[in-house]
Amino acid sequence: MRRLLTLLLAVMLASAVSAQTAQQALREWKAGTRVSLKAVEEYGLERCFASEEIPESVYRRMRGRSFKEGTAVRRADLRYVRVLHYDDGGHILLGELVCNRMIAADLVEIFRKLFDARYPIERMVLIDDYNADDELSMRANNTSAFCYRAVAGSRKLSAHSRGMAVDINPLYNPYYRDRKDGTRQVRPATAAGYCDRSKPFAYKLTRGDLCHRLFTQHGFRWGGSWRSCKDFQHFEK
Ligand SMILES: [Zn+2]
Repeated sequence: MRRLLTLLLAVMLASAVSAQTAQQALREWKAGTRVSLKAVEEYGLERCFASEEIPESVYRRMRGRSFKEGTAVRRADLRYVRVLHYDDGGHILLGELVCNRMIAADLVEIFRKLFDARYPIERMVLIDDYNADDELSMRANNTSAFCYRAVAGSRKLSAHSRGMAVDINPLYNPYYRDRKDGTRQVRPATAAGYCDRSKPFAYKLTRGDLCHRLFTQHGFRWGGSWRSCKDFQHFEK
């Protein structure tokens, strides 16, 4: 009997500690953390979908990485967006994005609807956690928006440089371009198997699915409908 009581006490203590850890993760918004629906409800679901000016702690992560010297936008033009998202296993995760203030309200609204519909997004942390290396972030299937960089293979600035583009589940929704010599360029390089869109697989973004519908309703253009190349992960305004 005493052993049973000790065990029960240990279980209660462990769940109290994990509930406390979840509240701390929510308060500090540790993106990438998995939380329960109960923890979200205790914290307040509405508080989990918001945008704000770039806080100092976020700016410190960005400086010298996604936010470089001579960047096309000012810090004041950018917003830090907090959202929740479900992964394909049905877990709730804390997500974060940096984008242009012009699309911050769009993103809060779109990701709220995607969350309500349990549209799966695997990971959403700042690209700075991958040292602003787009290839690494894409390989990790990390959804992201702002990053100061040129369009791959050119000197033209990407819409990501102004924070006006978002890449969703990029590993499973790659960019590819067929060269004249018959070879194919795929980004991320590990995504060659996901260029065939007739195959079924998790996190595949398709024309007419909820994600595509919401972004296009909000006035975004989809890279999956481009002709000279395909960029299935990419929405821009
Ligand atoms: Zn993109």
